[in-house]
Amino acid sequence: MNLDQLHRDSIIFDGHSDFLYNAVNEGRRFEERSDGGHTDLPRLRAGGVSAQIFALFCLDEDRSNEGNPTVESLRQVDAFYQMQERCADQFVFAGRAADIEAAKTDGRVAGVLGLEGIEPLAGDIGLLRVYHRLGVRNVGLTWNYRNHAGDGVGVDDAGGLTDFGRLLVAECFQLGMMVDIAHLAPPGVKDVLEMTEGPVIASHANAYALCAHRRNLTDAQLDALAATGGVVCVTFVPGFITESPTEASLERLLDHIDYMVHCMGVEHVGIGSDFEGYDGVTRGLEDVTRLPALTAGLAGRGYDALAIRGILGLNLLRVFRQLVGKSRGTRTEKKPLVTKQGLTTFLTERDDSKERRATRS
Ligand SMILES: [Zn+2]
Repeated sequence: MNLDQLHRDSIIFDGHSDFLYNAVNEGRRFEERSDGGHTDLPRLRAGGVSAQIFALFCLDEDRSNEGNPTVESLRQVDAFYQMQERCADQFVFAGRAADIEAAKTDGRVAGVLGLEGIEPLAGDIGLLRVYHRLGVRNVGLTWNYRNHAGDGVGVDDAGGLTDFGRLLVAECFQLGMMVDIAHLAPPGVKDVLEMTEGPVIASHANAYALCAHRRNLTDAQLDALAATGGVVCVTFVPGFITESPTEASLERLLDHIDYMVHCMGVEHVGIGSDFEGYDGVTRGLEDVTRLPALTAGLAGRGYDALAIRGILGLNLLRVFRQLVGKSRGTRTEKKPLVTKQGLTTFLTERDDSKERRATRS
């Protein structure tokens, strides 16, 4: 097996990057190769990435958005489309699976937009339809806090999905958007997996059995997610790979992949780096240019070319095609819905913002 050629020929589809947040808040330039962070356009190309989900992450109260996640997310959407305009010969928006395949053929990187937490919707299902029109195709239901849809993993005594959360999940399938359970607390994960009409993803999470972090997924969650036909994208965040983050490495990440393949089958595993979203270093995967080492590592663990292509991107692309390709338009008119669990509730629940600054993965 020619590993370099296999890597270059594969569709590599990364489920999670926080670049847009840093573009808006840290002034990062997509087209400039940087020594900081993990990713930018020159390095995405060097690493062989075909498609990247760019998260809209909007929960920083002490920044210029003055705590308005809708405004923050729209600034990030603007940054995304400005990147596309400035770099049109190398970077293109992808709203369908065919766009990703065409970008691969053209030698361009495809960008997919995703929400990381539905705070920007302000409890209004109509805004989900607006974000869909803006190009959003992946919907992470929560970050670590409580919001209109449900509770994130940082909420004590977390509950399941709210009525709004259930409506939202149904509307995502209706519109043709992926539903992403990364960051969602276990009762909400259970609710999503029970009510789902199709495959569900976790865009960046690892196996709890190997690293007992609240953001990782238990065997039962992995089983249930695989039963939907979905994909768990392993993440490179040191603290989610090993309980001793200074020992995080490509080899320990490969352990998570092996474990998930053992639990779920190889067709349910993908990658979601969380590049730009964490501090610390995962040895062997220091930035996106190191991705060929992942391909070599998978081959070293005995995976054949088909399995490697699946993990690198085709598994996530399969789900993307299945859901995004099946938009049935919007549902019949519904009134904007603000739940009992109103806006003021989740605004006051944001008490672990210091922790968030430490690692916003
Ligand atoms: Zn995250």
